[in-house]
Amino acid sequence: MFSFDAIANDGNARAGRLITPHGSIETPSFVPVGTQATVKAMSSEDLRNVKSQVIIANTYHLHLQPGEDLIEKMGGLHGFMDWHGPLMTDSGGFQIFSHGAAKEHGVGKIASIFPEEQDRGRRLSSKKGKPLVKVEENGVEFVSYLDGSRHCFTPEKVIEIGRKLGADIMLALDECTSPIHDFEYTKMAMERTHRWALRSLDMLQRTLDKNQALFGIVQGGAYRDLREESALFMADKGFQGLAIGGSLGRSKNDMYNVLKWTVPFLPKDKPRHLLGIGEIDDIFEIVGAGMDLFDCIAPTRMARTGTLFNRSAARFRIHIFNARFKHDPGPIEKECDCYTCQNYSRAYLRHLFMAGEILAIHLAAIHNLHFMETLMFRIRSSIRKGKFEALKNEWKKR
Ligand SMILES: [Zn+2]
Repeated sequence: MFSFDAIANDGNARAGRLITPHGSIETPSFVPVGTQATVKAMSSEDLRNVKSQVIIANTYHLHLQPGEDLIEKMGGLHGFMDWHGPLMTDSGGFQIFSHGAAKEHGVGKIASIFPEEQDRGRRLSSKKGKPLVKVEENGVEFVSYLDGSRHCFTPEKVIEIGRKLGADIMLALDECTSPIHDFEYTKMAMERTHRWALRSLDMLQRTLDKNQALFGIVQGGAYRDLREESALFMADKGFQGLAIGGSLGRSKNDMYNVLKWTVPFLPKDKPRHLLGIGEIDDIFEIVGAGMDLFDCIAPTRMARTGTLFNRSAARFRIHIFNARFKHDPGPIEKECDCYTCQNYSRAYLRHLFMAGEILAIHLAAIHNLHFMETLMFRIRSSIRKGKFEALKNEWKKR
């Protein structure tokens, strides 16, 4: 039910096709994040309209609320959220990290970027300080941020939950370290992630269902020898794809280095996913390093703050609250054919944001995701034509 073909190569960048039981994904592809079985402010119909090919939901969040048993009864995630295309589930490894080490250290996936919406609204967690998780060989114990109840995730349990959620692609449980962790700790966590990976595969085989694939996660922080060791370990274990996870260092350059060190050790015939990274500035580097999939909350998170993608603006974004848009009758982006740009002006969007109207976020999310999907479409065709570098230069040297 799963296959991956790399159709064209251009330098290290590659264009391919990943076939899943719920349809195919043209790669490289952006994967919108639907943590709570929804890509924020977007219906599944909206996602189809902006041509999203695949989404990623979160096992940890959905286990806590509403629970995998309920979702299974409602037809799995596909039926529950009326998304009938390819669907992935993240394991919860990053959440272990964001509640554990990241809280102790007060840092994110890259030390200079503070994470993400996972930290929003945590009523039971302090901003920085006592971790709410305990990582042991068997698995990880944690306290629910919703009601303080205790839970335990083991590699086996994550597969069991993943079965009920019914995603096409599951990610194995991993331990995600922080950029502050030293070599010794990062190595220990990586080795534990490797043992968990084998247990995850074993569990998958015991409950064999050819409709679900499992991706292993390469760890090793920003240490070159650990990344190489982890990639080599994961490469031949029988995963249907490999993801690069964990701490990616202290800067974007560190992240690009992690990709450079890791990708050459990954099998050429399997899809590669970069977890949790993908701002517009990064995309050409990620694709250029040979990645096929990446997920990121940036387009929808930015939409919520009135930050809208625009090709000619600095860092490819405008802030719609800016007074210069008050009387601006033009669309967010002239050449954009998304629903928002076809029908509404910058002046109207600015008004909606200023007035705190919820339609603002919906229209902004449609534009940002459409912008991202259009860029990915252009990147795929450029790779097929051997013109990836030309497209990259066109975008980066403005
Ligand atoms: Zn638009």
